[in-house]
Amino acid sequence: MSNVLVLVDHTGGTVRKTTAELLTIARRLGEPVAVYIGEGVQDALPALGQYGATKVIALTNPELTQYLVAPKAEALQQVAAKLEPAAILISSNAEGKEIAARLAVKLESGLITDAVDVQAGPVTTQSVFAGNYTVQAKVTHGTPIITVKPNAATPEAAETSPEVEEFDVTISDAAKTARITDSKPREATGRPELTEAAIIVSGGRGTGGDFGPVEAFADSLGAAVGASRAAVDSGWYPHAYQVGQTGKTVSPQLYVAAGISGAIQHRAGMQTSKTIVAINKDEEAPIFELVDFGVVGDLHKVLPTATEEVTKRKS
Ligand code: FAD
Repeated sequence: MSNVLVLVDHTGGTVRKTTAELLTIARRLGEPVAVYIGEGVQDALPALGQYGATKVIALTNPELTQYLVAPKAEALQQVAAKLEPAAILISSNAEGKEIAARLAVKLESGLITDAVDVQAGPVTTQSVFAGNYTVQAKVTHGTPIITVKPNAATPEAAETSPEVEEFDVTISDAAKTARITDSKPREATGRPELTEAAIIVSGGRGTGGDFGPVEAFADSLGAAVGASRAAVDSGWYPHAYQVGQTGKTVSPQLYVAAGISGAIQHRAGMQTSKTIVAINKDEEAPIFELVDFGVVGDLHKVLPTATEEVTKRKS
């Protein structure tokens, strides 16, 4: 069976859920080989084995993490030259997409970004034009390089015991022209990461700037908090939490939109959520066209009541 490379997305050895999804997808296409860049590979091994990596290629050259993404693309090129994979899967985040684009140029290969599904072939599915069309595509030249959006697959356990192979790479001077001078993790909120969360509670202009009820309801459910652009543009919530065309694309099990009208650009980021609930005081609000459950009411009353009910049921 041919190798399928999966670039591991991790923070200091803690593997992100998107990597479990990529490994699950890789198993449909061939033998999943994880490519791990940076320190902490031993910490990552259990998670990589749990989702079916048969081998882990460890790249520990410090130059790979001291610079911006160019060295990572060069390193992947060298791994691909040796392993001749049937496909390369990378998470669809800002860094992943830049690595993928640079790698595609280096390998003279076709690139497909933002896949929401990948099946044998590999044939990808993308959701385009603000989610109004789905497109099936296939790379026709070189090694297929595919970036895959979060929640494209449900991680399926496979329980392998991957061996680790250290892999030496040489990084050119051209790839070392922009160095990282400082990096700080975002302040921890204690909530799940937006694109990985199973439940998201988002607030819009209807919050009037008070995200307290949105956050309290999210916390009662162990959910992430999202925001519409109107809320972000008003300075009520940071841009990192914006859902939509110019924010994050999410696909949780449950998406709760509170005080959000349902503009097409907001829908583009959340309409593939499995169950959608809206709370809006205007019964004509367009968001009600796509919901599974709708509550017509004032979010400042509905959310605290819902929070109380959830808290009561948990205790
Ligand atoms: P509004 O449209 O003002 O809706 C507020 C809603 O709250 C109303 O339906 C109202 O009835 C309800 N409400 C008011 N008070 C209450 C209350 N007390 N209780 C319950 N309900 C209440 N938008 C995004 O969200 N994400 C994007 O990524 C994005 N990208 C964009 C890109 C482009 C190029 C453009 C042009 C626009 C983009 N937008 C995006 C903006 C988008 O068009 C909308 O303007 C925005 O989504 C509106 O946000 P909103 O629903 O919070 O506000």
